[in-house]
Amino acid sequence: MFDVVVVGAGPNGLTAAVELARRGFSVALFEARDTVGGGARTEELTLPGFRHDPCSAAHPLGVNSPAFRALPLARYGLNWLQPELPMAHPFPDGTAAVLSRSVSETAASLGPRDAGTYRRLVEPFLPRWDTLVRDFMSLPLSALPRDPVTLTRFGLVGLPPSTWLTRRFRDERARTLFAGLVAHVMAPLSGIATGAIGLVFALAAHARGWPVAQGGSQAVSDALAAYLRDLGGTIHTDYEVKRLDDLPPARAYVFDTSPTALARIAGLGRHYDGYRYGPGVFKIDYALDGPVPWTAPEARTAGTVQIGGDSAEIGAALRAASREGRAPDKPFMITVQPSVVDPTRAPAGKQVFWAYGHVPHGWTGDLTDAMERQLERFAPGFRDRVLARATAGPPELAARNANYVGGDIGSGAFSGLQVMMRPRLSLSPYHTPHPAVFICSSATPPGPGVHGMSGHNAAKAVWRRLRQTP
Ligand SMILES: Cc1cc2nc3c(=O)[nH]c(=O)nc-3n(C[C@H](O)[C@H](O)[C@H](O)COP(=O)(O)OP(=O)(O)OC[C@H]3O[C@@H](n4cnc5c(N)ncnc54)[C@H](O)[C@@H]3O)c2cc1C
Repeated sequence: MFDVVVVGAGPNGLTAAVELARRGFSVALFEARDTVGGGARTEELTLPGFRHDPCSAAHPLGVNSPAFRALPLARYGLNWLQPELPMAHPFPDGTAAVLSRSVSETAASLGPRDAGTYRRLVEPFLPRWDTLVRDFMSLPLSALPRDPVTLTRFGLVGLPPSTWLTRRFRDERARTLFAGLVAHVMAPLSGIATGAIGLVFALAAHARGWPVAQGGSQAVSDALAAYLRDLGGTIHTDYEVKRLDDLPPARAYVFDTSPTALARIAGLGRHYDGYRYGPGVFKIDYALDGPVPWTAPEARTAGTVQIGGDSAEIGAALRAASREGRAPDKPFMITVQPSVVDPTRAPAGKQVFWAYGHVPHGWTGDLTDAMERQLERFAPGFRDRVLARATAGPPELAARNANYVGGDIGSGAFSGLQVMMRPRLSLSPYHTPHPAVFICSSATPPGPGVHGMSGHNAAKAVWRRLRQTP
């Protein structure tokens, strides 16, 4: 009899397991794939010696996560590498706006008419960032904020649609950079709380950067798994859980799965029928013969490069994928170039490069040509550098990881009320109708990303329950 059995070794399942093992509970973890990691993994997808991140690659949320910061992950091999610039957003005229560690450098790149507005937007929150991030990433309704004044001010700025917030800017450079930040989640720019999404990514860059993990995102998962084993936890891979009966007896079961899968496995009937999944992504991992030939010099030193001509183009791409059921003609793309800061990822002189664009839920087409046309627009000659590519659309992403239903890498639409109330309206979203069954995946607050905070919050709900019931 274990105290806790965890299903799914993504960042949230691993974090929940670690948090519970640290508190003296016996923990066993079961993972369907042959390696741990879920959305934080690294594989040789293309050619020998090229180590790609099939899922997450840039870690603004990981390096800022209160859960990860409290764990000794560096001792278990996690080393964050900071590119010279966290992010660059090149424009068709060959210039770029940047998101730098420095507020001044970022503001200056937006042009003289918007520099002051940007400063006034981010500077009030920066001194209180650590408390703010803890407050909004913690239990949604049952935890008392440590700094309710700052959280309220943040809510007033961030809860309205991002299109309201970007009206403060006078020029297109700032609007485009900010629209791109919002588009890291797949919701129309006019959605509720989209302003907060953009702000979080900007503040995260100024506070601690947007690093990559040395050696690849697998390092995050391997560090969590090694720590779990040191704490006495056991990990069983190649073990897909289909029914609760597949698992050993335990006082609590914690699922790092989609709500739909959990309902099926634990017999929860129609409990999560109202849960909505969002659009998918089309992902390409490239092995390159050298660096991406960006026209804008800033983009050559940035870890992440956003691709979208202007805010209207980004808005149209998001609407096409999320509302109109079609692939965008000019996809908005997030690209990551880990090789600018980590030479261990590819043979000498070569690079790995990572890119995805948004597509409708379950889309079965091929976005490669549209994505490469976009890349050629900002990096002419890109195609000549390609040695090999590995592509994955929604069906492949869902086949690799059951949590990415229809290719939705957020494991549930991050739009409307579901931004804050997921997987359903509840004071404790980590509990389920079954008293011994809990959910900890990114389908719970604070939502998608490699930060482990859903696992951390769910673990809290579990240990409170276990301490009440000896
Ligand atoms: C293409 C792509 C790019 C991304 N880019 C970034 C990025 O740059 N930065 C960032 O922060 N985030 C990024 N993300 C999102 C991030 O990877 C996820 O939000 C995060 O991994 C969610 O963590 P999780 O633990 O909730 O679930 P997951 O990481 O999805 O892990 C769930 C685990 O549970 C296992 N599982 C599911 N069902 C079962 C079952 N029945 N039995 C046993 N095991 C099961 C799965 O195999 C998987 O290992 C990206 C995701 C994708 C796909």
